[in-house]
Amino acid sequence: MQSSLARPPVLAGCGERRGLAAVARCRAEAAAPVWTASRASAGPYTGRDPEVKKPAWLRQRAAQGEKYARLRESIGELKLNTVCVEAQCPNIGECWNGGGGAGGEGDGIATATIMVLGDTCTRGCRFCAVKTSNKPPPPDPLEPLNTALAVASWGYDL
Ligand code: SF4
Repeated sequence: MQSSLARPPVLAGCGERRGLAAVARCRAEAAAPVWTASRASAGPYTGRDPEVKKPAWLRQRAAQGEKYARLRESIGELKLNTVCVEAQCPNIGECWNGGGGAGGEGDGIATATIMVLGDTCTRGCRFCAVKTSNKPPPPDPLEPLNTALAVASWGYDL
């Protein structure tokens, strides 16, 4: 028995479809396993076998560690914004700790990306988590000074 989520039957002859994208989609549908009621609880069909575990490197631990905490405190005190935080970047633990993992095991140079002119972007790309607005609030007049203070306090090499 098939659920209501079953894929529609593949139309015979993908070559009859117009356009390369339509033909490619048709072939992909034909090659994909049929979505049955027994798999419905796993969510929409993604092509991934739900029985196969995701690789360990795909999962990120919550950011922690001494360097991460110091950087977070410094950025908070100076009222600065970073793309790392605003975009909810999953690499933040590793970058801010200087590599080696999200737990603070890294001994490399920490990396953070300061976002200038506030925390709001005027573009609005749909894949990004940064807040967007056509009319963002005015920039903080102290932001340039605070950015310089942050960079100086972090011991940046020129
Ligand atoms: S510097 Fe690292 S944490 Fe920040 S946005 Fe880039 S990849 Fe993400």
